[in-house]
Amino acid sequence: RTIFNTIELLPPDALFGIKQRYNADERKDKVDLGIGAYRDNQGKPWVLPSVKSAELAIHADPNYNHEYLNITGLNALTSGAANIIFGPDSDAIKNERIVSTQSISGTGALHIAAKFLSKFFPERKIYLSDPTWANHQAIFQAQGLVTNTYPYWDNETKSLDLNGFERSIEVAPEGSVFVLHACAHNPTGLDPTKEQWETILERIAYKGHLALFDSAYQGFASGDLNKDAYSIRLGVEKLKRVAPILVCQSFAKNVGMYGERVGCFHIVLPEQDTKEELTTVKKALSSQLSKIIRSEVSNPPAYGAKIVATILNSDELRAQWYKDMITMSSRIMEMRVTLRDRLNELGTPGTWDHIVEQTGMFSFTGLTSEMVARLEKEHSIYMVSSGRASIAGLNKLNVDRVAQSIDEVVR
Ligand code: PLP
Repeated sequence: RTIFNTIELLPPDALFGIKQRYNADERKDKVDLGIGAYRDNQGKPWVLPSVKSAELAIHADPNYNHEYLNITGLNALTSGAANIIFGPDSDAIKNERIVSTQSISGTGALHIAAKFLSKFFPERKIYLSDPTWANHQAIFQAQGLVTNTYPYWDNETKSLDLNGFERSIEVAPEGSVFVLHACAHNPTGLDPTKEQWETILERIAYKGHLALFDSAYQGFASGDLNKDAYSIRLGVEKLKRVAPILVCQSFAKNVGMYGERVGCFHIVLPEQDTKEELTTVKKALSSQLSKIIRSEVSNPPAYGAKIVATILNSDELRAQWYKDMITMSSRIMEMRVTLRDRLNELGTPGTWDHIVEQTGMFSFTGLTSEMVARLEKEHSIYMVSSGRASIAGLNKLNVDRVAQSIDEVVR
């Protein structure tokens, strides 16, 4: 026996546990609607054509190497990433009000945000949507921060609980941190409308809270980078005289860089009285972010960053990437419509229009955990017990069987 023998065994991670069971399942027609990763019409991972071209260009460079990046990452990535998320006409970019650093995908960006907040604002409460991406709570709590939830999904109406959301903003202690899904809310696939974003951000500004945008699906949701950045750009505008904004940006889904771990963390500062003041605060923030990163990963991974930077800084590859995002988002949309139509044709009890109305990778189907368990056991169809299905796992070959199986478990 050693001192380690008393350490408790934890259950497998809910999501990666599904993947393990799926991999171990020997039934031929199994379907993975668990993890949020894009699949093509044959159910295979898809390397974006823009990524293939960028990789060829990187390897063709005679100066190609594997040197370390800076602590804050590749400048061509962080500046290109800021351009797409804040927009080419961004006042914050023009006036250099943004401090950016590369991160280990979206999770790493959230981790930097959590570390930063726990170091300088440890007493501030973190408000997460109910429900939210399962990892949010873990990331903030791991840094000793206290998390709370705000109402988001109204299960009765399958729509946004705006009143509940507003009430939380109202009663949260001043200076609380509101984590907002920039688009394609995970797991519900339900985003606030433009008018609702106006209300939410105005209330956040009025109460002096901090907005932290988590952007994991820009361009992937609608196929349009600008549309999917609406909430962030509105937030930057609404809070420009009030408070900083934190933005966590992932390239896992929209560039298909899942395992390469490419992301950025940005702090947008409000307008300052003088240029000197702005320079001073930016330098201080950058030095603090560098200190956090240096002690944890020393410097971020280079390969995926070079791929994304190559795409972002080439007109030709960016144009191809826009097409790639349309390929992905429109195939997902087609699958939403097909699944809804098949369920309607089968007369499956319940209403299924929400599958089409929801956006992004996921549908919050409304299936209960018992139905989900039965889908797995009887039909080799895997999804999260909350009823969240990754629509990207559907294709022309399996959607009919999935609809029939859902019909069977619902009845
Ligand atoms: N935030 C949300 C809401 C997500 O759904 C995800 C991935 O599923 C992430 C962040 C981070 O993902 P990654 O670390 O792979 O970029």
